[in-house]
Amino acid sequence: MSDEPAPSLRPPDVTMAVSDGPAPADVYDVAVIGGGVNGTGVARDLALRGLRVVVFERNDLAFGASGNSSGMIHGGVRYLSQSPHVTEQSCRDSGYIQHIAPHLLFRMPFLMPIKSGLTGRIAIELIDAYFRAYDDYQPLKRGEPHCRLDASDMSRLEPGLVGSLVGGITFDEWGIDGARLCTLNAIDAIEHGASVFTHTTVESVTKNPAAPEGGRYVVEGRDVVSQQRVRAGAHVVVNATGAWSPVTASFGGLPQARVRVRPGKGIHVVLDRRLTNYGILSEAIDGRQIFLEPWQNVSILGTTDDDYYGDLDDVRATSEEVRYLVQGVARVFPSVRTARAIGTYAGVRPTLYTYGKPEDALSREHEIVDHASDAAPGVYSMIGGKLASYRIFSQELSDLVALKDFDVSTPCSTHTRALPGGERVPDALALAEKHGITPVASRRLVYRHGARSLRILERAASRPSEKDVTCPCEPVLEAEVRHVIAHEMARTVHDVARRTRLGYGACGGMRCAARCGQIVAEERGLPPHEGFELARDFGERPATTRLVAMGPEQARQEALTLAHLRASMGVER
Ligand SMILES: Cc1cc2nc3c(=O)[nH]c(=O)nc-3n(C[C@H](O)[C@H](O)[C@H](O)COP(=O)(O)OP(=O)(O)OC[C@H]3O[C@@H](n4cnc5c(N)ncnc54)[C@H](O)[C@@H]3O)c2cc1C
Repeated sequence: MSDEPAPSLRPPDVTMAVSDGPAPADVYDVAVIGGGVNGTGVARDLALRGLRVVVFERNDLAFGASGNSSGMIHGGVRYLSQSPHVTEQSCRDSGYIQHIAPHLLFRMPFLMPIKSGLTGRIAIELIDAYFRAYDDYQPLKRGEPHCRLDASDMSRLEPGLVGSLVGGITFDEWGIDGARLCTLNAIDAIEHGASVFTHTTVESVTKNPAAPEGGRYVVEGRDVVSQQRVRAGAHVVVNATGAWSPVTASFGGLPQARVRVRPGKGIHVVLDRRLTNYGILSEAIDGRQIFLEPWQNVSILGTTDDDYYGDLDDVRATSEEVRYLVQGVARVFPSVRTARAIGTYAGVRPTLYTYGKPEDALSREHEIVDHASDAAPGVYSMIGGKLASYRIFSQELSDLVALKDFDVSTPCSTHTRALPGGERVPDALALAEKHGITPVASRRLVYRHGARSLRILERAASRPSEKDVTCPCEPVLEAEVRHVIAHEMARTVHDVARRTRLGYGACGGMRCAARCGQIVAEERGLPPHEGFELARDFGERPATTRLVAMGPEQARQEALTLAHLRASMGVER
């Protein structure tokens, strides 16, 4: 930490409303920097143990890797030979995550086709044996044991597979919406006393000369929307900024070498519908494993893993990366070439640093750096890890902080207490009938909100116009849009989309962004033109990220639709 004298603590300038949480205090036990799955996971864990926690997220919750992952709570079968510990941990934590958020997980059986020929015949024996070892871990996450199938079973299960096969292997994984996982952790933290500030970037962490009064550290930053300064005292500071961690460490004057990550960019291509009900593995041109997965109501091709040196706040897929994935998957499942691409997204893995190894061979372990040895006691960095093991990682950090810094021995309860809405999964069809909405809208609502769907539907019952569908592709009811603005910290159309998937369907926001912008403006008391600005900002980003995955015909159609969107909002350019 820098030893520059910090100005004395005064009530912070923090003015942004924190959904349902109490008014922010000026001094916290723990300040968490970063609102990804690890930051929100730690905030929840420590808040449940009775500590006063504040979270600062510079963009939106899940803006980083957590909202741009492949969306799998997988058991890490790939790591079994080199790091069985990672596989065991991922499977065990996956079981806990299913238990605390049953509405948010969906089963994803995978098929691994194996080409015929001598190599294929040998490969299927070896892969079969490998998956027998993986089966030992499957019960931890309620996964079915693998099956070995012959070529005719494979094509009966998935007629879209091509090529001469010796057979294949099945294995069982789970999908999840990573952005909602972060939101639910943040909401639960707030409901247990934490304060969460999104769109608020931390710019410095300094030692407080008046400590212990006012906390050992002063965390300062800025609300990037209002440009207001933010300031808070904290006894403990957790750097949970993923791939940004070394940069964040430098704000506190910590040696960057102690917080080294090897940032690994991964991209995905989104196709407009479920092309199959199975995840399908394939090999890319360089022999890397890639996949097609049915994910919620779309199909996703993923993913790449390349060292990344670019801007972490603006990570985009390139057309080369898109071609690499499409070419690789099309070898076993050619219809991905004719399917309609509706978007791409990209994120950066905060992988533990190693020099000289290919990206794929890097460890997926996680690590806590205790900066006490850097003369910054009470400062910690969380690096590495997986969505699938975020809970255990958060628990490890929270166990350490609670005992070492606060002498609190309250045990962790994040594996037994349901996340908000996870207490019970309501019957979506019964809700649809009772509330007069379509079964699809009801199922999607229950998927995202579990038992809390009832709150949204009760709201709509007293204001029937809120049963209108704002986003027809997903579909998202107006009541849900208003709910996430009022109770889930959504401040922009992008934020609403991350929480509801509004605009993530085939129309890319063309049919819903403008209306959503209006609703955001109404709910936040903004002038209507600001609502239009938010809508335009949302409409343009997906248009540019989609462009790299489009053929010329689709690109022309897109340009026309975008011009229409701009014209309808009175924007001349
Ligand atoms: C392409 C890809 C696919 C993946 N697939 C899977 C998968 O299927 N399953 C799985 O288990 N794992 C997967 N992972 C890994 C997993 O997503 C990450 O390990 C995990 O999400 C990391 O979470 P995090 O909270 O540490 O970081 P992040 O989610 O990146 O969060 C860090 C946050 O810190 C914020 N921040 C940065 N600087 C500041 C600052 N100064 N002030 C305030 N906030 C700041 C950022 O805005 C960001 O939101 C994947 C990762 C990628 C990139």
